[in-house]
Amino acid sequence: MNVIIIGNGIAGTTAARFIRKQSDAKITMISGESTYPFSRTALMYIYMGHMKYDHTKLYEDGFWAKNNIDLIEKWVDHIDFDKKEVLLSGGSSVSYDKLIIATGSKPNKFGWPGENLNGVQGLYHLQDLEKMEAASAKGIKRAVIVGGGLIGVEMAEMFHSRHIPVTFLVREESFWNPVLPEGESLMVGKHIVDHGIDLRLGEELSEIVDDGDGNVKSIKTKNGEEIECNFVGLTVGVSPNVAFLKSTNLNINRGIQVNEYLETNQTDVFAIGDCAELSKPSPGRRPIEAVWYAGRMMAQVAAANVTGKKLAYDPGTWFNSAKFFDIEYQVYGDISPKETDGVSQFYWEHPELPKSVRIAFDTQTLAVRGFNLMGIRYRQEVCTSWIENKVNIDEVMTNLKAANFDPEFFKMYEEDMIKAFNKQYSKTISSQGKRKLSFIRKLMQTNG
Ligand SMILES: Cc1cc2nc3c(=O)[nH]c(=O)nc-3n(C[C@H](O)[C@H](O)[C@H](O)COP(=O)(O)OP(=O)(O)OC[C@H]3O[C@@H](n4cnc5c(N)ncnc54)[C@H](O)[C@@H]3O)c2cc1C
Repeated sequence: MNVIIIGNGIAGTTAARFIRKQSDAKITMISGESTYPFSRTALMYIYMGHMKYDHTKLYEDGFWAKNNIDLIEKWVDHIDFDKKEVLLSGGSSVSYDKLIIATGSKPNKFGWPGENLNGVQGLYHLQDLEKMEAASAKGIKRAVIVGGGLIGVEMAEMFHSRHIPVTFLVREESFWNPVLPEGESLMVGKHIVDHGIDLRLGEELSEIVDDGDGNVKSIKTKNGEEIECNFVGLTVGVSPNVAFLKSTNLNINRGIQVNEYLETNQTDVFAIGDCAELSKPSPGRRPIEAVWYAGRMMAQVAAANVTGKKLAYDPGTWFNSAKFFDIEYQVYGDISPKETDGVSQFYWEHPELPKSVRIAFDTQTLAVRGFNLMGIRYRQEVCTSWIENKVNIDEVMTNLKAANFDPEFFKMYEEDMIKAFNKQYSKTISSQGKRKLSFIRKLMQTNG
């Protein structure tokens, strides 16, 4: 069997590894971005000098030859699904018995005047990082970043690390409030400002102005202000990287449409990772989930199905993690940015430091539904077990220290948190730290 995988990100790479574990098929990975897979999530640390590019490689260079996985560093221009042929840049082609498309995302652009000028770019590919380095070497007097999501904050921190002044335009009135509840959104907004970033909330880009030589000179905002800058970072989300497939018979909506087995409408063709859109996502989940671990999980399912099994994709309990400068952020399960009917949210925030804990639970059954954590890290396996086992909020509060990575934190703040919880819900619970281990073990066993 001849398996071709387009894209060597986390999804394509994991698929290749898992197919190799299960079969002696001929496997070829194709990617135009880099010969060897690397960690996209670590791009910022290369710019900030914490890591070298080589440190971000997922495996040693020899890993691929050792595992008999061929690598082709080329762009795919087209796929002929009838002939089962992949056409590469430069005119050559390769044929497949089974094909996995794992082409990831691309940064969004919304047709702004000037968006193609020199000095305007997103942050997604290795080549974007190289462009940021080249612009920084020439000298950036001010960078304007447009779009207040996770990649925008990363870009702001990157420039901040090199003392480059940043103006950050965010359309919403409060930072990332389509996702973060009010308390966390305000905390992160303040934290960004405390780092000297010129954060403009409720402000949008109107146009990017040319200096007459095809370079960015300034931007204009919707409120009519002109801000001088020689770099514009467009971080207004990402979309599936599928434009090169639009003229084919592949079913594409925003992403490549796949069923629960990650099969596309074309025979023997699968799509995984950021470029895949589930036709019927699990309840409460989105059709496209552009996060690292989703790509890895989808890859394992596709690898099983390519090698003859029939495994359905189950995304499990939602989680994500990121950093807003020094604030670590984790979310597990279902946390709505606004209070919703039938769900209550307990929220505790440190009076001075950027640290908070939010726990959502069902008001009828009291089953815990989600955790939002800022500046504090909880154990994923514990939070996920609590959510999947629908553990009662009182039980969770009583055993909360079992979830925490940092026992010192609980020594210092547990009493405050329990007091706040008892006050908010007129309860009289107290901490039961001693039950922690047996309680968690029991949960893990129930969870399989
Ligand atoms: C700066 C940044 C920070 C992030 N931080 C986090 C984080 O903290 N946590 C998290 O969960 N997620 C994070 N993400 C998102 C995460 O990196 C992605 O969800 C994940 O990398 C997607 O993996 P993938 O394998 O689907 O696609 P990709 O990693 O995009 O890999 C696809 C590959 O296919 C190649 N390709 C595309 N088209 C073609 C073509 N026509 N021919 C040949 N090759 C092609 C691409 O060049 C690329 O190498 C971050 C993303 C960015 C950009």
